Amino acid sequence: MKNRTVFSLLLVFLLSLAGNAADFTVKKIGEGVYAAVSPDGSHAGSNAGFIIGSNGVVVVDTFVAAEPAKDLLAEIRKITNLPIRYVINTHYHLDHTGGNGVFAEAGATIVAHRNVRGWLRTENLKFFGAEPKAEDKARVEALVLPDLIYSDAVDIYLGTRLVQVRYMLGHTGGDSVVIVPDANVVFGGDLVWQKHLPNLIDATTSDWIKTLDKLLAEHSSGTYVSGHGDVATVGDVRDFRNYLATLREDVAKAQKEGKSGDELTAAILPDLETKYGVWGFFKNFSKRNIAQTAAELAGQKKIPVSANTGK
Ligand SMILES: [Zn+2]
Repeated sequence: MKNRTVFSLLLVFLLSLAGNAADFTVKKIGEGVYAAVSPDGSHAGSNAGFIIGSNGVVVVDTFVAAEPAKDLLAEIRKITNLPIRYVINTHYHLDHTGGNGVFAEAGATIVAHRNVRGWLRTENLKFFGAEPKAEDKARVEALVLPDLIYSDAVDIYLGTRLVQVRYMLGHTGGDSVVIVPDANVVFGGDLVWQKHLPNLIDATTSDWIKTLDKLLAEHSSGTYVSGHGDVATVGDVRDFRNYLATLREDVAKAQKEGKSGDELTAAILPDLETKYGVWGFFKNFSKRNIAQTAAELAGQKKIPVSANTGK
């Protein structure tokens, strides 16, 4: 099971590395607030974004590798010459942190939750299978670590503009959202997937649903930048929250009926496909989502553990 999970995830990464789709599209979603949205299979590997204040720029996530990160830097430079002061990594996964070095070289301080620093060069290895090649190991070991870490929250003032970074549970145990209050924008990182099935490899869906409920209550009219998919509306975030709830309900019901393994998956898949078959990554992640949620509900899910904080 574990190897198949890894393989499926690896496949998504390979697709993202080998794809031919355009890398990303920069979309203005507020005054000085931009999303960099990449289609499935693009070289960028995930979504990113940036926020321009009166004295500098904050970049949110850095794509999967240096090349698309350089393209993002070039796009930012078309809009402003203000210094890139900070990068925020929303979580440790390679598809959001692979370009850190490009922005560090440009002078930015990399900011993230303490678990991102703890897991960046260790947990990312699992995406290359049970026996990573030397070049894959070297790639993970070369990832540029956050310089500045926090446990719960940090506020960044870009001159007159406030950017709030908030630690939230659900997707990996080391995720943060980035809020721009004056533009009513929330960068959700991979806590928000827009019309896409999520990667649950490190997830705790019970916490995740609570996080989404909190976000929806506090930002009930905002624009959300997803980690994968398009820029998200409040309705998209609610739909995604309901996907996780449906998955948990379906799995719990099947477990109550005594089902497990392939039998459990076969019992649930048709309902999920009816409701979510048109979403991105359905083929990649649906069976894994079921198996990983079954493990979580059975108390058998392995998730990354922080070495020093218990968080
Ligand atoms: Zn991602």
